[in-house]
Amino acid sequence: MTARVLVVDDILSNVKLLEAKLAAEYFDVMTAYSGAEALAKIEQQQPDIVLLDVMMPGMDGFEVCRRIKTNPKTAHVPVVMVTALDQATDRVAGLDAGADDFLTKPVDDAALFARVRSLVRLKMMTDELRMRETTGQSMGLVDPAEAHGENGPPGRILIIEDRPESVAWFSNALAPAHDVAAVDSFEEAVVRVRGGDYDLIVVSLGLRGFDGLRLCSQLRSLPEGRNVPILVLVSDGDRRKLTQALEMGVNDYLTRPVDKNELVARVRTQLRKKRYADRLRHNVQLSLEMAITDQLTGLHNRRYMARHLDTLISNAQKSGKPLAFLIMDIDYFKSVNDTHGHDIGDEVLREFASRISANVRGIDLACRYGGEEFVVVMPDTDMAFAYSIAERLRKSVEQAPFAISRAPNRLNITISIGIAGSERHSDSAEALLHRADQALYRAKREGRNRVVADAA
Ligand code: GH3
Ligand code: MG
Ligand code: MG
Repeated sequence: MTARVLVVDDILSNVKLLEAKLAAEYFDVMTAYSGAEALAKIEQQQPDIVLLDVMMPGMDGFEVCRRIKTNPKTAHVPVVMVTALDQATDRVAGLDAGADDFLTKPVDDAALFARVRSLVRLKMMTDELRMRETTGQSMGLVDPAEAHGENGPPGRILIIEDRPESVAWFSNALAPAHDVAAVDSFEEAVVRVRGGDYDLIVVSLGLRGFDGLRLCSQLRSLPEGRNVPILVLVSDGDRRKLTQALEMGVNDYLTRPVDKNELVARVRTQLRKKRYADRLRHNVQLSLEMAITDQLTGLHNRRYMARHLDTLISNAQKSGKPLAFLIMDIDYFKSVNDTHGHDIGDEVLREFASRISANVRGIDLACRYGGEEFVVVMPDTDMAFAYSIAERLRKSVEQAPFAISRAPNRLNITISIGIAGSERHSDSAEALLHRADQALYRAKREGRNRVVADAA
């Protein structure tokens, strides 16, 4: 894995040392010698990770970090503070500024590469989501997910630990702000994660009864656990386990003895990242749905139908089952608009769409085809059955006047329907549509408020 790393330090020899180490591992290294230079480079060149010195003249590392994390253009870039300080209080100050992790000087190679690789790997996943979300935004489908927004609602946290005194300590530290549950067996942890909607899982790697790393790997492979951050607890000095955990994709770690403030700060960071990723995922899902949905009626749109119809036709041809195609058009709809206004026309369209939905099966594909034209594609349906559904729809419109929000409060509406089927035909979507359209045209010409089946 290669990545673009920005090294920031006011001392040339420190920069050169890190640059050499990273370049030897094939990272693409950029450098900056002050906070101001770093901020400009991050915004312009979008590195994958920033290694940031704390003590620099002018703007110190904490302030630089705070600015990176409050700028929406750069907030997603992970920041590792490189510092001679190694007190928990310093780490808490860094975490409060939004830092993702710390390395102490002199920098140990194994720790450096493990942290850089792990943070870059985690960032790649968020980048993919950010990219898709940006597309949704540029299509005007969704509003951007905000990267920050500090104290969110309480998180649902699962602690996996088999020492009762440790469980009590963790619950005490986290419970006032969060909803905390604890389990002490491998099986129960899996069951809980499968069924629960957790925001964070804390796994002790010093368990008596089972291997915490094996559990982490199992949790990562569950669909319900894939997107839940994992924070592991390692004994001070157990670097081998920590490296394995990071390689496996755990999100963060704490070393024992655990400092309470550091725990609280790391938990807050993980929850903030999880919520951001959740919002991104939600927006991506939403823009996918909106791209195939008609905004006025909530039915599928024409673009979706055009794409999906080919698949439905080829499935019908392969299975030898008939497929029916209904096209419906509201009669004299122009006069509804002319008499009552366009917004009442819209109300009628929405009501018509809900009557269509109420009269078709789950496997049928209902779409708004154009202004006041709607289409239903019915797999596994012969012409006789399609005719009966079309009649039912026609009657459901004719027999119950449409409620509208202004006088006269109810409108009599009728529709005309054309049907075509793929029975005996091996025609294309286009041909099927054309035959249904011809049938609809006949229904209109023969007086409207009727169903006409294609005779072919
Ligand atoms: P026919 O019985 O022959 O179908 O007559 P019609 O008046 O329904 O047909 P025509 O095609 O002349 O008119 C369709 C009208 O639908 C014209 C257009 O202004 C209106 N329309 C199209 N889209 C919308 C929409 O989204 N909202 C509203 N309110 N009206 C729409
Ligand atoms: Mg310095
Ligand atoms: Mg019409």
